[in-house]
Amino acid sequence: MTRRRRIYEGKAKVLFEGPEPGTLVQYFKDDASAFNNKKKGVITGKGVLNNRISEYLMSRLGEIGVPTHFVRRLNMREQLVREVEIIPISLVVRNVAAGSLSRRFGIPEGTPLPRSIIEYYYKSDDLGDPMVSEEHITAFGWAAPQDLDDMVALSLRINDYLSGLFLGTGLKLVDFKLEFGRLWENEEMRIVLADEISPDNCRLWDIKTNEKLDKDRFREDLGKVEEAYQEVARRLGILPEGGPNDLMAPKTMQ
Ligand code: UDP
Repeated sequence: MTRRRRIYEGKAKVLFEGPEPGTLVQYFKDDASAFNNKKKGVITGKGVLNNRISEYLMSRLGEIGVPTHFVRRLNMREQLVREVEIIPISLVVRNVAAGSLSRRFGIPEGTPLPRSIIEYYYKSDDLGDPMVSEEHITAFGWAAPQDLDDMVALSLRINDYLSGLFLGTGLKLVDFKLEFGRLWENEEMRIVLADEISPDNCRLWDIKTNEKLDKDRFREDLGKVEEAYQEVARRLGILPEGGPNDLMAPKTMQ
């Protein structure tokens, strides 16, 4: 069996060389981490569910014209994506106060925000992903003003679309994190959505009970972590065929 070239290993995913130039295979692990890697664990079946959930959401976004790196799902834990140059800035979009925003400003969790707020974080494990301003981003050359405009416009569209989509399944999209990359085609550069969209990087609360159905169950030791990821997939109508048992499928070769 030939071993594929591993391009990058992150906390929740591995990137392998893809079958053709300009593509990568994104492998979803069950590993979970929080608080800048200080807390680590395994959420059984998470990789399978996030692969499926992210496929579903990226496909729906693609249909409304949001460019993404997603090409197609290959198997239970892997998807084919376009190779992009990742911009080292995470964009967090917030609709309701939670997490670090609540801590920073003393706003109780669950308080609706007067309007959607976008924040930028510089992606650096060593520095603990510090929050940065537009000034830092353009002055240090992490992204050009035009790139940033594109990322903000796309993030707001994604927020509107996903808020409605989740609302239809009885879930509130409290906040989420996005990553973007540069994709070159015939000398032209486009900003495209990259990484993943899943309960690992979204806060999703039940609309009626405010029950948390996302990675906060792991961060805050709330229990029923696996069940929360399954519930999100179930509400989206995409639980893998065979139900939760399918989530134990053997890991594919690495
Ligand atoms: N988030 C993420 N990766 C990070 C930090 C945050 O995906 O490294 C997501 C998180 O799941 C939440 C949103 O970004 O949906 C906002 O997170 P926040 O800044 O409140 O940080 P936290 O409370 O997780 O420290």
